[in-house]
Amino acid sequence: MLARAVAHVSASALQHNLHALSRRAGVPLLLPVKADAYGHGLEVVSRVAAAHPDVWGLAVATPQEAVNLAALNLGKPVLLLTPSAPEEVGPLADLGVRLPVSTLQDAQQLPAHARAHLKVDTGMNRLGARPAEAVSIGQYLAGRGLLEGAYTHFASADEPDLAFARQQLELFQGVLEHLPPLLAHAASGGGLVSFGPLPGMALARPGLASYGFLPAHLRPLVPLKPVMTLRARVNFIHDVYAGESVSYNNLWTAPHDVRVAVLGMGYADGYPRNATLKASVLIGGRSGQPQRRPVLGRICMDQMMVDISGLDVQVGDWAELWGAGEITVSDVAAWGDTIEYEVLTGLGQRVERQVAP
Ligand SMILES: *Cc1c(COP(=O)(O)O)cnc(C)c1O
Repeated sequence: MLARAVAHVSASALQHNLHALSRRAGVPLLLPVKADAYGHGLEVVSRVAAAHPDVWGLAVATPQEAVNLAALNLGKPVLLLTPSAPEEVGPLADLGVRLPVSTLQDAQQLPAHARAHLKVDTGMNRLGARPAEAVSIGQYLAGRGLLEGAYTHFASADEPDLAFARQQLELFQGVLEHLPPLLAHAASGGGLVSFGPLPGMALARPGLASYGFLPAHLRPLVPLKPVMTLRARVNFIHDVYAGESVSYNNLWTAPHDVRVAVLGMGYADGYPRNATLKASVLIGGRSGQPQRRPVLGRICMDQMMVDISGLDVQVGDWAELWGAGEITVSDVAAWGDTIEYEVLTGLGQRVERQVAP
């Protein structure tokens, strides 16, 4: 069957971002491809990234994601970022997946062929060992020849005030002083762009930035390109007359006669329902430039309605819901009262992912 919505993933935009971010960091990247590569498609993104010279490896959030990624055999290291259950450790190590270590017990569970990245908690208070304990766990891992890397995670490096992130960095560097040389990494997208090269760091882990997005205050520092363009198919066209309403709860009433296109994308596909009465799309490129047109009434589970009055649009045409043009994921996130991360990772399985050049 034909897809009702397609997410086009631009390989060249991704390559551009990876290069720009690696340059800014001064080190290769450990690219987060968790949550289906931030909704872009694990395989599509991982293949492009693994072939990129500025990418050292790929990072995932769950053991199942690690297994799925390892099965692609892309020839680059995979790091799991969250704890695994004792019975998962052996199979993951067998696949060559690098494992995070937050406790001495984690470290003791590792088989002799495992490779560990010591997680140091410097203030995020999510995962990791506190600095003093991290030193002894790291020394134990190094003694067994298992210590490949060490990392920490900034809690607020996406904000203009970097005081807390600086404090976290110092704690982390203090731990590294007591360990043998290893692959250290700290910055995600915000930290990478805010700080640039960080002393002692061998890798950086920009997630959302690799897919094209930064907080507003950081955008001028590294120009990035949105990787995904989301398009939905026009499935039906009809006229709605002055005084009639469109969609659930009669939220929108036509002030005059309008021509309406029904698109095959709704909140079950990840388009935020909270964007109702705020959203617009780009549509009508048959004769000239697509135009920005409002979404009418409530956004439904599987569909949304758009005013196409005066445009040359036919069933089977495509509307652009977000992309690199006039409407970005940042706009849709703002209309939906959420963040780019949530919009992208919420993209549903009915949306087909396609690589575009
Ligand atoms: C998700 C994640 C990242 C990437 O964060 P962004 O804000 O998307 O750059 C980096 N490191 C860890 C540990 C993460 O969980």
